[in-house]
Amino acid sequence: MTEQGPQAAAPEVPRRNWAGNVRYAARAFHRPTSIDELRRLVAGSTRLRAVGSGHSFNRFGDTDGDLVSLAGLPQTVEVDHERGQVTVSGAMRYGDLAGQLQTQGYALANLASLPHISVAGAVATATHGSGQTHANLAGAVAALELVTADGDLLRVDRDTDRFAGMVVGLGALGLVTRVTLDVVPTFQLRQYVRLDLDRAALDEALGSAYSVSVFTDWRTPRLREVWRKQAVDQPPPPADWLGTTAADQPRHPVLGMPPENCTPQLGEPGPWHERLPHFKLGFTPSSGDELQSEYHVPRTSAADVLAALDDVAHLIAPVLLVCELRTVAADELWLSPNHRRDSFVVHFTWIGDTAAVLPVVAAVEERLAPFAPRPHWGKVFVTDPAELANRYPRYADFAALLADLDPKNKFQTDELNRYFPR
Ligand SMILES: Cc1cc2nc3c(=O)[nH]c(=O)nc-3n(C[C@H](O)[C@H](O)[C@H](O)COP(=O)(O)OP(=O)(O)OC[C@H]3O[C@@H](n4cnc5c(N)ncnc54)[C@H](O)[C@@H]3O)c2cc1C
Repeated sequence: MTEQGPQAAAPEVPRRNWAGNVRYAARAFHRPTSIDELRRLVAGSTRLRAVGSGHSFNRFGDTDGDLVSLAGLPQTVEVDHERGQVTVSGAMRYGDLAGQLQTQGYALANLASLPHISVAGAVATATHGSGQTHANLAGAVAALELVTADGDLLRVDRDTDRFAGMVVGLGALGLVTRVTLDVVPTFQLRQYVRLDLDRAALDEALGSAYSVSVFTDWRTPRLREVWRKQAVDQPPPPADWLGTTAADQPRHPVLGMPPENCTPQLGEPGPWHERLPHFKLGFTPSSGDELQSEYHVPRTSAADVLAALDDVAHLIAPVLLVCELRTVAADELWLSPNHRRDSFVVHFTWIGDTAAVLPVVAAVEERLAPFAPRPHWGKVFVTDPAELANRYPRYADFAALLADLDPKNKFQTDELNRYFPR
């Protein structure tokens, strides 16, 4: 997957996802250039979905009808200085938005590990970064504008009934044309990488800075790297911090991949959007030949979760590129994996071999079951639908919302139907 250098022309509607494990089954691909054209398209179709930047790994968004990219619509960024909010086109990539916010003196409170993803696509799956006081990216959503099943344009905000059900919408409630996000004044961070953490210090490490990620490979019980993204005025970690040593050169989370793809480390100060993501816009994030799975469990269960996974470490290690441990603060959004639960999050970047990976995903889920894990909506999981329903107090409310907003199943896909049968 080459993404070296700035992306030139706007991409076509993708025929497959970024990882290449899903070839979209749509019978037609569309890239409307105006809202009116989009509304007519939606009104006239019987089966249809939006695609964002195609960075999810499962078939929730894979329709057999019309697949629509909103990247051809006019891309706008409007800052409301009074409210401290920005309204952006749903198809805009976080990396493009971040650059524009930065020039106006604003920031988003958090970002995912990569800036390449679209705002609407990321919000639809509750994409997140790390930081135990930071909500996931959907938590910053103040309003949405969407084209609903009958082609109408609907605007909803935090005062709208059932708004908390609509934000993490799995792409199933309509095509999101504009998103309003809370912004904060711009800020600077420094990124330090520390090596070889003892598990006993994991909780302290995760809470030690603005945003912390811990990487490991399940080959030893020790944790390979701690990536600390810390406020510029926070002192650097002391030489013997939690028994770790300082990395003396830049790192990539996946061993053997080029550190040049990553945002600056070694404590060099820089703006929020060039430190919070691990990967630079314009460069390949992660490995490219991979699958991903991720599970949100209660924040307090970190040590017990790692101990439970020790039993299947011998299965995990051979199909793993890297495992990342993060934290996310609780929110109120109905389908957010962080719904009313401060979370510890265990992420797996697997090799790109579905047949080899799926049995290990099942083994991991079996070990995690006592912790009521909520899988990332955009990644690979095999959780039984009835089990998953038990893990979300508002699951049935979301099903009712789906039936109300999409009575003719226009946005339904086979995978969505497994989890929300109609
Ligand atoms: C290398 C890599 C690193 C990643 N890192 C992280 C990470 O740090 N944290 C994390 O949480 N996740 C991470 N992810 C997962 C990724 O953020 C999510 O899968 C996210 O949904 C991708 O956004 P997208 O725009 O590519 O969405 P797509 O994959 O295109 O679509 C996802 C879903 O959103 C729907 N959708 C898209 N656009 C719209 C729209 N305009 N209106 C309505 N519905 C829409 C689609 O129908 C589909 O159901 C990573 C993925 C990759 C490949």
